[in-house]
Amino acid sequence: MLDARAGSLPCCMIPLFLHYRYRHMRHMRHISIRFRFFGKIRIIVTFLTTIGLVFSTLSCSGPPLRDPVGAADAGKTQVPIRFLLSFDDGPAASGPAGPTLSILDDLAHNSLQPGITAVFFLQTRAAGAGGSALGRQIMQREYDAGHVLGFHTATARHSNHRYLDPAVFEQSLSDGVADIGSITGTAPALVRPPFWSYDRRTFAAYQAHGLHVVLTDLSANDGKIWGVNFSLRRRSSMLHQLGDVREQIAVGALPVIDGNIPVIVTFHDINRYTARHMQEYLRILMDSARELGMPTAAKPFYDDRAELERAAIGRSVGSASQPVHLPGLWNWIWN
Ligand SMILES: [Zn+2]
Repeated sequence: MLDARAGSLPCCMIPLFLHYRYRHMRHMRHISIRFRFFGKIRIIVTFLTTIGLVFSTLSCSGPPLRDPVGAADAGKTQVPIRFLLSFDDGPAASGPAGPTLSILDDLAHNSLQPGITAVFFLQTRAAGAGGSALGRQIMQREYDAGHVLGFHTATARHSNHRYLDPAVFEQSLSDGVADIGSITGTAPALVRPPFWSYDRRTFAAYQAHGLHVVLTDLSANDGKIWGVNFSLRRRSSMLHQLGDVREQIAVGALPVIDGNIPVIVTFHDINRYTARHMQEYLRILMDSARELGMPTAAKPFYDDRAELERAAIGRSVGSASQPVHLPGLWNWIWN
C-alpha cells in the first residue's frame, strides 16, 4: 500500500505522498467496480496517513540528538559540567580595538557570569600576535586578568610542529616557554598543538618541557585557516557537539575534577566574528546544556586560575597513543 517509492521520500513528504495515493484511489472508484473494497482500503489509508504524519513530525522536528541517559533524569544524577573556555592563535595585535581585547572585556563583563577566566594558547612570536609590543601588552593583560597562558607556537608562522625541522621545533619550545614565563613568572603547563597535530616525537618533546597536551570537546569551528571566519550554524553545532559530550559522560569517559566535569570549548580570539558573538556563544553553551538536561556548576564557567589550570591538566592527553576525538575533519586528516 505504501509503495516502495515512499521509502525514498524525505520523511516530511510522506503525509503528502499518502494523501496523493488516497485521492488517486477515489478517482479509480468511479472507473471500475473492482474497487468494491475501497471503503476498507480508505480506512487503512487514513490510518497510515495519520501514522505517517505523526512519524514524520517526530523525525523532522529537530536535530537527531541521542538520549542515552534520559534528559529528564539526568539533572538528578549527573555530576555538573563546567565550561572550560580556551582561545587559540592570539593575541590579536592588529590594533588597539582588536578581537582579543574585545573578548577579554566580554569575559570580564557579561550577564551570565562576570569574571570568567580562560586558557589562551598563544603565538608568542608571530608578527600579528605575540611578536610585537602590543602583542606582549595583551598577553600581560590576559595574565593580569587571571587567565592561564598556554603555548601554541613560537615561530613566525602558525607552523605544524611535526613538519618543523627538529632543531627549529626544539628552539621554538624553549622560546615559547621562556616568552610565557617572562610574563607569568613560571613555565607554562599547557600546550595545544597547532592543527591538533602531534606524534610520539613531538608529544615527548612537549612532555620534556613540562607541557600537557590539551585538545577540545567543543569547537566553534572559527579558525581562519580556510579563509572563512563565520559560523552560520553555531547554535546547532554546539548543541550537537555537547550531545556527544553527554554520551561520553554517560559512559564515565570524562573525569570529575574538583566536583565538576570540565567541558573544553575552543575558539580563536583572532577572529573578529567570534569576538562580536562572544556573549552569544556563552548563552548558546548554557542553552545547549539546559536543552540536553545537563546540569551545570553553580558557576558554569571557570573563574579561578589555579582551578582552571588543574581542570585543564586533568583533561589533558595522557600519551601519544591515546585515542582522541579531534574537532571537524582533523581525525580524518591525520589518520
Ligand atoms: Zn592554531
